[in-house]
Amino acid sequence: MPANLLDFDLEGLADFCAGLGEKRFRAVQLYRWIHQKGESDFERMSDLAKSLRAKLAGCAAVQRLAVISEHVSADGTVKWLFDVGGGNAIETVFIPEADRGTLCVSSQAGCAVGCRFCSTGHQGFSRNLSTGEIVAQLWHAEHQLRARLGLAAGERAIDNVVMMGMGEPLQNYAALVPALRTMLDDHAYGLSRRRVTVSTSGMVTMIDRLRQDCPVALAVSLHAPDDALRDQLVPLNRKDGIQALLDACVRYLEAAPRDFITFEYCMLDGVNDSPAQAQALVRLVQGRVLCKFNLIPFNPFPASGLHRSPRERVLAFAQVLQDAGIITTIRKTRGEDIDAACGQLAGEVQDRTAVQQRLARRSAVIPIAAASSAASVLASAPASGVAS
Ligand code: SF4
Repeated sequence: MPANLLDFDLEGLADFCAGLGEKRFRAVQLYRWIHQKGESDFERMSDLAKSLRAKLAGCAAVQRLAVISEHVSADGTVKWLFDVGGGNAIETVFIPEADRGTLCVSSQAGCAVGCRFCSTGHQGFSRNLSTGEIVAQLWHAEHQLRARLGLAAGERAIDNVVMMGMGEPLQNYAALVPALRTMLDDHAYGLSRRRVTVSTSGMVTMIDRLRQDCPVALAVSLHAPDDALRDQLVPLNRKDGIQALLDACVRYLEAAPRDFITFEYCMLDGVNDSPAQAQALVRLVQGRVLCKFNLIPFNPFPASGLHRSPRERVLAFAQVLQDAGIITTIRKTRGEDIDAACGQLAGEVQDRTAVQQRLARRSAVIPIAAASSAASVLASAPASGVAS
């Protein structure tokens, strides 16, 4: 099997080239051809020595992902479904805005965390993606979009990457970090650390490792103000709990490129959206961790048994946070007509960990209703899985 050059960050590529008897500056040239120019044919890399091109042809490749489908929403959002083999498919979404383009990237085929409100979690889990499979999503989207938009040399289509697609990125840490380094590298995509965001369901020890190895912007899926409810919505919470998670967020800020953590909060009708729960959130974070809240409209899917909070309840919830001085945004739903909105990415996954069956059993025993005591309603479900 030829080595997939998308698997390497620059240091890895330099090592690979050294193994071929080539100097580091050759690795830099190669890296720039691949990531800055989107070239995969060594013969077209005109300033590489012919001898190097011949060596590469014999032992290396730039392995693109096979595109199963591409859908473009009325609002310009683009969703790609990529085949990653073994019956698995992953999704990647481009979200254009007036001042920037954001790519939502997947880190795993499926997800083992099993968050109650997440369509990906209900698909189950198959496997981690390789670094090359993570980077290939950006490589494909950036160079496709540049060509389609007719961008001039040096102009980029994607300024922002959010690791918020399928999977929990911190459960695929070994592949994630080299991929982040390629996103950040000036010889590749040159993205600012502030514009690359890892979204996690809250893996405390891995948040500490990311702070040391490759601090980028951090988003934490909170979704509840207390452990009783969060244990049910994000099963991973049972391991460390909210207090340990907030402590990890405070430590992360020492190295973070932004001076706040973004807390994601999916608004679930009658479950986590009351004014009292908003006040509990204020008590939880105020004076402890600098943060912003991003309130996410839930995108319902039948197996969840959950409903989207009414707009007025979301606004009232946001008002409580804002009155306490916490910057709060309500996420605009994008790409709904192509099932590309947050929490709708499902792909196609061979569920090797039986997450689907466990969640189906839970759905069967959880009443589908607005709950006055959300934790007690959700507590009737045996928990499973782990948690972005
Ligand atoms: S960790 Fe993220 S992808 Fe996995 S189930 Fe939870 S919300 Fe979905």
